[in-house]
Amino acid sequence: MKLFNSLGNAKEELQPNPHGKFTMYFCGPTVYNYAHIGNFRTYLLQDVLTRILEVEGYSPCVARNITDVDDKTIRDSIKNNVSLKTFTEKWTKIFHEDCEALNMKSPDFEPKATEHIDEQIDMIKTLMEKGFAYLAPDHSVYFRIASFKEYGRLSNIENRELKTQEIDSAGKKNLADEYDRENVSDFALWKSTKPEDGENFWMSPWGKGRPGWHIECSAMAKKYLGCTIDLHSGGVDLKFPHHENEIAQSECANGKKFVRYWMHVAHLLVDGAKMSKSLGNLYTLGDILKKKYSAQCLRYALIAAHYGQQLNFTFNNLVAAKNAIEKLQNFFHKIAPLQDIQKFEISEWKFLESAFSALLDDMNTPACLGSVFKLINETSPESLNEEQKHTLHREFSTIMYCLGLRLDDKEQDIEVPQEIKRLAKLRWQAKQSKNFVEADRLRQELSKYGWIIKDFSSTYIIEKEEL
Ligand code: AMP
Ligand code: ZN
Repeated sequence: MKLFNSLGNAKEELQPNPHGKFTMYFCGPTVYNYAHIGNFRTYLLQDVLTRILEVEGYSPCVARNITDVDDKTIRDSIKNNVSLKTFTEKWTKIFHEDCEALNMKSPDFEPKATEHIDEQIDMIKTLMEKGFAYLAPDHSVYFRIASFKEYGRLSNIENRELKTQEIDSAGKKNLADEYDRENVSDFALWKSTKPEDGENFWMSPWGKGRPGWHIECSAMAKKYLGCTIDLHSGGVDLKFPHHENEIAQSECANGKKFVRYWMHVAHLLVDGAKMSKSLGNLYTLGDILKKKYSAQCLRYALIAAHYGQQLNFTFNNLVAAKNAIEKLQNFFHKIAPLQDIQKFEISEWKFLESAFSALLDDMNTPACLGSVFKLINETSPESLNEEQKHTLHREFSTIMYCLGLRLDDKEQDIEVPQEIKRLAKLRWQAKQSKNFVEADRLRQELSKYGWIIKDFSSTYIIEKEEL
């Protein structure tokens, strides 16, 4: 497979890992609120990449972290009067529910920052021993950027002014810290505790504090995937400073190349603008479901454009996605009645070679879908003999597997009876008002009629129970 490597800015053939698994690290969510559809664009395209590599025989192995300590998680857990653990566990669960609804594969490892404090401290100690980091008067530890000559290669920032890095993840500039640093561009590896952190600190050789914004990825990538990983990915906003800092920390601590290939996903815009709460254009999966589009429609809309290009999302994209999925479903049922989407090993493609080649060529999802619809438009399933149908079904199924589309999904077609809708609504209301006994009773009643409820972040769906 070929992919655009952001380190070097060229399309490159991905060389399989001679040691076995193709290791990938994806920067995961900060769990303090709903993930928005921009975040999901990045996660979904990473999911598609993983699926293609799996089909192509690379044996991918994925780690995606959970950031469960930072300024925002601490700030909002205190605001809500619950412990950091209780708070972040709630949002992690909601994130998992959204991922499941979007048919995303679970990563092989999903390490949490707070469960790897020792590993982070160890890496910081190594960086200090080797002279790449220093203790500041306020008992924070900083990375000394001047000690790493390669700094800036990924984002080409050497010509730009290196601005202060300590804009914290909540967007505030930490001015006080500037005076503790040798250089304003040095970034924090360990932050000494502040009154606003409350009880959220850990002991370290440098006193009470917590890890900086970047070290968790370096420490956890090393623990689960080794010193050198094959591919690292995130949204394009993470290139600088987050990924530059990860490279600096890992290469200086481990003395080895950190990442072979970097893949960055371009941003999602909504109605032509950057998503923001104040503009009212920030959407979550729950918002999309409320507007009666399925999670699969959202998945389709988010993966249908090339990952390297910005995607301007509008509700028209969902209308188009819904139509496209229906077309795929109709065709699939004609060539393979009542069969599930599966991936097959295909030694020689007969019908959909161009669709699969498009995926192998820098994950060109729009070209792949274009080839699939060209085939649908030009092929009448009735004219195919059984063997041809069988071959086409295997190929079609494999492409859909790569894209993560489930064409047996009946969720959109089934008419839910009024009474079931009413009971489901009552159950949701009972759950919202924490009347769990009543909510459970209603769930059981629905189940008697053969209906199950799946809850998502801010809504639910009703599904027919499988027999
Ligand atoms: P965060 O939780 O902010 O660290 O973001 C999680 C992931 O989503 C990261 O890989 C970000 O780069 C990515 N991301 C954030 N905003 C967008 C967006 N508008 N479009 C695509 N990806 C995004
Ligand atoms: Zn990261």
